[in-house]
Amino acid sequence: MTDFTYSVDADGVATITWDTVGKSMNVMNQQGFLDLEVHIDTALADDAVKGVIITSGKEGSFAGGMDLNIIAKMKESEGDNPAKGLFEGVMGMHAILRKIERAGMDPKTLKGGKPIVAALPGTALGIGLEIPLACHRIIAADNQKAKIGLPEIMVGIFPGAGGTMRLTRKLGAMGASPLLLEGKLNDPMKAKAAGVVDEVVPADQLLERAKEWVLNAKDADIVKPWDAKGYKMPGGAPYHPAGFMTFVGASAMVHGKTMGVYPAAKSLLSAVYEGSMVPFDTALKIEARWFTNVLMNPSSSAMIRSLFINKEALEKGANRPAVADEKVSKVGVIGAGMMGAGIALVSALAGIKVVLIDAKQEAADKGKAYTTAYMDKGIARKKATEEKKEVVLSLINATTDYSALKGCDLIVEAVFEDIGVKAEVTKKIEEIVGEDTIFATNTSTLPITDLAKASKRPEQFIGIHFFSPVDKMLLVEIIKGKATGDRAVAKALDFVRQIRKTPIVVNDARFFYANRCIIPYINEGIRLVTEGVAPALIENAAKMVGMPLGPLQLTDETSIDLGVKIAKATKAAMGADYPNDTVDEVLFWMADAGRLGRKANAGFFAYDDKGKRTGLWEGLGEKYSLSDTQPDLTEVQHRLLFAQVLEAVRALEEGVLMDIREGDVGAILGWGFAPWSGGPFSWLDMIGAPRAVEICESLTASHGERFTAPKLLHDMAAKNESFYERFGANQKAA
Ligand code: NAD
Repeated sequence: MTDFTYSVDADGVATITWDTVGKSMNVMNQQGFLDLEVHIDTALADDAVKGVIITSGKEGSFAGGMDLNIIAKMKESEGDNPAKGLFEGVMGMHAILRKIERAGMDPKTLKGGKPIVAALPGTALGIGLEIPLACHRIIAADNQKAKIGLPEIMVGIFPGAGGTMRLTRKLGAMGASPLLLEGKLNDPMKAKAAGVVDEVVPADQLLERAKEWVLNAKDADIVKPWDAKGYKMPGGAPYHPAGFMTFVGASAMVHGKTMGVYPAAKSLLSAVYEGSMVPFDTALKIEARWFTNVLMNPSSSAMIRSLFINKEALEKGANRPAVADEKVSKVGVIGAGMMGAGIALVSALAGIKVVLIDAKQEAADKGKAYTTAYMDKGIARKKATEEKKEVVLSLINATTDYSALKGCDLIVEAVFEDIGVKAEVTKKIEEIVGEDTIFATNTSTLPITDLAKASKRPEQFIGIHFFSPVDKMLLVEIIKGKATGDRAVAKALDFVRQIRKTPIVVNDARFFYANRCIIPYINEGIRLVTEGVAPALIENAAKMVGMPLGPLQLTDETSIDLGVKIAKATKAAMGADYPNDTVDEVLFWMADAGRLGRKANAGFFAYDDKGKRTGLWEGLGEKYSLSDTQPDLTEVQHRLLFAQVLEAVRALEEGVLMDIREGDVGAILGWGFAPWSGGPFSWLDMIGAPRAVEICESLTASHGERFTAPKLLHDMAAKNESFYERFGANQKAA
């Protein structure tokens, strides 16, 4: 069976239908390219064929993109010269798409070609848009749910099958920049307004209109502007005065946003700049060179592995125990505060019935009002409708009546962070719900095993740890207590899948995984302040290594009183072993002065009346005066990164993390760990275990035991082993 089929109708219009076998959406693989080329050759060679429609056999979509495993295959194809394999593989794709674009026309007179139209029933992403861009016209069905665009930049690459060159030539560098540099996706109407697609028609007229266009197209209609004489790039090429401004601005913007750590953004810009000054076929070659350059960069492979391949594997249940379907039909959310309100919202959006309980009716109603406000915002932005809002709201029963919890197959408790309050709630609920109900707690700090002591059924007790704000954060940490059974894990995973988030499953230990790693990052940042290191150096060092927020800004965002609360609780639990007294001095001093962070408009940063940061707070420098000698940038970056990655390695060594894929994906989605690196384990693999140990030794000598390399890292350094070799992509760690 092949993914492409070919037919010719009585009027001489050939239709190539893409229908990837065994997938709900079309995905391009190596064989697919070859099959597509065979059909194009057949159509061009057959005198009875007047033109071609390329469409999809899938309802509501054209194609979701490329199977990124193709890249690995191309790399392997030339043995020890992977760059050659990549370059030739990419040039092979260019040749096929260029054949579609030239469609058999005489290259000198530009006459005699056959019209080829892309008819898109819906979503067209990545190569699913690059093929249409090579066609002579793109007609899309008016399908509001469809997404059209080139999202490659999001996984650390850029459109490398001609999409970069064609889109910039079609729209100009300015017009193409949000689509290429931000991976912006549009529905068909917006894609038409942006100039990406040429025409939008009602879905039931798609093929009819495509055929009409093919039968009426003239020679001139099928010559791309960039193949015609005198072509000028819209908005101007780099040496045009307007084009010059665009390119200078884009370069500054990209460097400002990415701090130069994302190779794809930089290479994309270079490809566009160089490619827009030469004829199109040369431009394609330039694109292929830069694309190869990006694909050879370890950052791209690591991003693809974590953000595409492994993220998807985890979402599909890579670590789900083999028990029957545990999809949730009715969830009880206890506590309608900040977290409970968000959990109710995302559950109702997924079509799950929700009982939202709080101690007082006003509090429960306030929790439900969060969904109302969310839907209203969606309506204002034309992303939701009044009907959808009614449906979502009708799924949430906000009440104080615990008996409404009858029939819930999952409970998610999000009451105050107090073991006594949580125990009481657990007991009360277990009296009401059925024996099969799974009980989850959203605690951020309390051990699941301790909380499960209040339960009659600890094997059905589990942690489901959301991050704030629930509707925006993509990661959910699922925590197994000592007694937690497989069915509870499956229920939690099925729930996370229903609400379309990415799960990781970890064992119970202080701060689980994400908070365990992010707290030392914050602490290291504050410790640097106490040593007289310039706060601006600390913040910029973090951002220049790809952290979305510096440690001081992050503390302001999460609030200083939360830091104080966590510090006090940790100290109480650890006693004499507590290592962070120096850090606490700063936190307690700030809290006493009422500088509680962004919410108080005062923290490590100063803010104006509207809550906008105006710069680092000068009072900080008055108390902790700057030391005469400042450390170099790399030293600060090593301290900030090693504070996090060593905790990740310890979590793995202790069996808290069971799968390094979860460690990497969880770090990026949970706390924004330098996404360009692919996550802490991918980053350590990039620098290599021997080098990592060397850095640890130097940091330990200068800054103390917290940088001691874990035994696991020493073992790996001795064998020069990488994490992905040792623990394998599909292999569990512990
Ligand atoms: P919150 O104070 O905003 O909300 C707690 C809600 O629980 C309040 O509305 C309160 O009235 C209600 N409540 C308290 N006791 C109750 C009882 N016996 N029965 C019914 N309702 C009761 O707190 P939050 O920030 O939403 O946090 C809730 C839980 O989620 C905590 O365990 C917290 O540690 C955890 N958590 C918080 C965050 C965060 O960023 N805020 C992140 C992850 C997890």
